[in-house]
Amino acid sequence: MHIALNCVSYMNESINEHLHLLTKLALKGDEETAELLINILLSLEALQIRAIAYLLVYQIIMNTYIDLTEECKKCGGVCCKFGEPIELYSFDVEDLKSIVMEFDNYVIKNCGKVYLPRPCPFQNEWACSVHNVKPYACLSYPFAVENLQKDVISSYTYSHPPRPFIPHFCLAGQKVWNIIDSTIKDYKFLHGKEPLPQDLLKYTSKKLKVHI
Ligand code: SF4
Ligand code: SF4
Repeated sequence: MHIALNCVSYMNESINEHLHLLTKLALKGDEETAELLINILLSLEALQIRAIAYLLVYQIIMNTYIDLTEECKKCGGVCCKFGEPIELYSFDVEDLKSIVMEFDNYVIKNCGKVYLPRPCPFQNEWACSVHNVKPYACLSYPFAVENLQKDVISSYTYSHPPRPFIPHFCLAGQKVWNIIDSTIKDYKFLHGKEPLPQDLLKYTSKKLKVHI
């Protein structure tokens, strides 16, 4: 299922909805929210949550600092075409309704939940026609999708940046990981240690901002 990374199995459920909204803001490139979120996650001092913090950083880097137009075009938008319906959070529905007329015509409603079908009705050839208000799940693909990364998270045993799982068709994810991997090597060469999630985000954003 194409759902956003879910900390519910590691955290108190009462803060889960709020955490998802914070995470969506961070995934959209809000630097202050990203810093706050990473600090909250790391304060929990659990190894699996540290892995989640790294994966979120990878996804923020993908969403914010790297142009992936060519890769997504070449792939043809596979992640929007195939798979189970995408669950929408209430904040996703509000965001989409701000620009989509007759919203109810595009979604599936079941047991009080709202889903986007796939192929997604908002896909225009390979591109997303609602890019600025795309759902949390879409902003999470592929590094912050729980189902894709569950083995990476559960087998995480040491505090280094984890190697993510990337579907073979996701050329964008492969490009992003190559950039992050070489950035981690640069950081280690300069500082003599592995970057923490917040270090990796700061270092990568500084390095990549120069080129955009
Ligand atoms: S994110 Fe990956 S799977 Fe989705 S369109 Fe881009 S390359 Fe394809
Ligand atoms: S909303 Fe946009 S990114 Fe999400 S599945 Fe639809 S076309 Fe793809």
